[in-house]
Amino acid sequence: MNQPSTPQGHPEALYVLFFTEMWERFSYYGMRAILTLYMIAPVSEKYGGGMGLSEKEAGPIYGLYTASVYLLTLPGGWLADNIFGQKKAIWFGGIIIMLGHIILAFPAGNMVFFIGLAIVAIGTGLLKPNISSIVGELYPEGGARRDAGFSIFYMGINVGGALGMLTVGYLGEKIEWHVGFGAAAAGMFLGLVGFKLMEEKYLKPYGLLKTKEIEKDKVADSKSNNMALMMIGILISLLLVLQFTNVIDVTTAQGLAQAMGVIIVSITTFYFVYILIAGKLSAVERTRMYVMAIFFVAIAIFWAGYEQGGSTLNIFAERNTNRFIFGWEMPASWLQGMQSVYVILFAPIVGAIWLYLSKRNSNPSAPIKFGMGLIILSFGFLLMYFASQYIVIGEKASFMWLIITYLFTVLGELCISPVGLSFYTKLAPARFVSQLVGIWFVGAALGNLIAGMFASNFDKDNVAQMPSLFMLVVVVSLISGLLMILLYKPIKKWMGGVE
Ligand code: GLN
Repeated sequence: MNQPSTPQGHPEALYVLFFTEMWERFSYYGMRAILTLYMIAPVSEKYGGGMGLSEKEAGPIYGLYTASVYLLTLPGGWLADNIFGQKKAIWFGGIIIMLGHIILAFPAGNMVFFIGLAIVAIGTGLLKPNISSIVGELYPEGGARRDAGFSIFYMGINVGGALGMLTVGYLGEKIEWHVGFGAAAAGMFLGLVGFKLMEEKYLKPYGLLKTKEIEKDKVADSKSNNMALMMIGILISLLLVLQFTNVIDVTTAQGLAQAMGVIIVSITTFYFVYILIAGKLSAVERTRMYVMAIFFVAIAIFWAGYEQGGSTLNIFAERNTNRFIFGWEMPASWLQGMQSVYVILFAPIVGAIWLYLSKRNSNPSAPIKFGMGLIILSFGFLLMYFASQYIVIGEKASFMWLIITYLFTVLGELCISPVGLSFYTKLAPARFVSQLVGIWFVGAALGNLIAGMFASNFDKDNVAQMPSLFMLVVVVSLISGLLMILLYKPIKKWMGGVE
């Protein structure tokens, strides 16, 4: 069917998805901007009182929440493919997200707050992967126009992120935390209204349930269902053993986060091994799977640093920076909004650089870009190592340190994140593409979890340790980046001609 197109040649449906995702990210990043700060704020002081949790609790809770958001994209994608179709999944997901934020907006105690967080995570799992897959559906021919469509969509993500962090951050920190959470709900509401109003006209043929294909796959499914059940059984036994031998304690936030880490690492390892053994892969598909496993580790390490924007760097912004401009104190959460602002500013430039280089046949290969991304990230944290020296001697650091650190994290992101996602779709054997894109999100889940768990150490009484904590991020990302660059030849060979 011929759908209306804009003069630039993109279907108008893209802008409906852009608008919806923009408001969803407004609510996600807006709420996330104040989440850690709210959890560690004293119970009845500034900003109407926080939860009064320690960093040991708040860090892992942030990690558990943000990891769940990305992990739940797996069942969210499955539900859309098999039961709802993408469009309904987006609609229901959006409603669930809004309800979750409404719950957060009521100061009704910690348990209710955690339930609200869980509901937001479930809704996001349903909305996020499916809205991106409809973007893909708009461009069945693939190619450069599809890439351009995704870049426009990524802009929507970050426009929403920037506006959310500014608005929710301001309201939450300066007026009242729960007013901030309420604004996140209002943002999602606007997204839903826009989606409903425009869906009929612009999204009619997209995001529907494809029942015929499901019938065909049923037989294959029952075999993998058995494997999945076996995997769940092994995982539960493993967690029970860890709990009863006191290796982890799932009655604490930290223990739960560790359990989540075990689950994520096991699922991913199992998945890769399963596909390698039972996926009937050709030789080249097999070596491409090795590359995807390496990229998985790299992206998890990358997000583990990057996503500290909402955890350690957010805590640092609040406690340890001087944020006065002409006598007015900027909300701490505004600083992480710089990540989205930088993406908007630099994504077109970095995209143009790759295009320029590829015209001259010197576009760096994917492992080199991964290596660059990790090394640039490590430079950002090196700045934090220096900034934290002020804190050790009892002073505050200028907020400019964070402004520049965030610039490095985003330049790294632009080398690694869009490149990685597109290579995942190209390297995956055609029949496993959507599952492997799911695994790519699992990499984000693992990174977010680590970014949260790492914040447990950012204790007020423990500032002497701060430089060495940031140095740890520098060393890990630098070494992994260098390894990617040193090993780029064999990795490139394993990619089997994928450019
Ligand atoms: N910032 C991007 C988004 O919100 C990517 C995040 C991620 O994959 N960790 O969609």
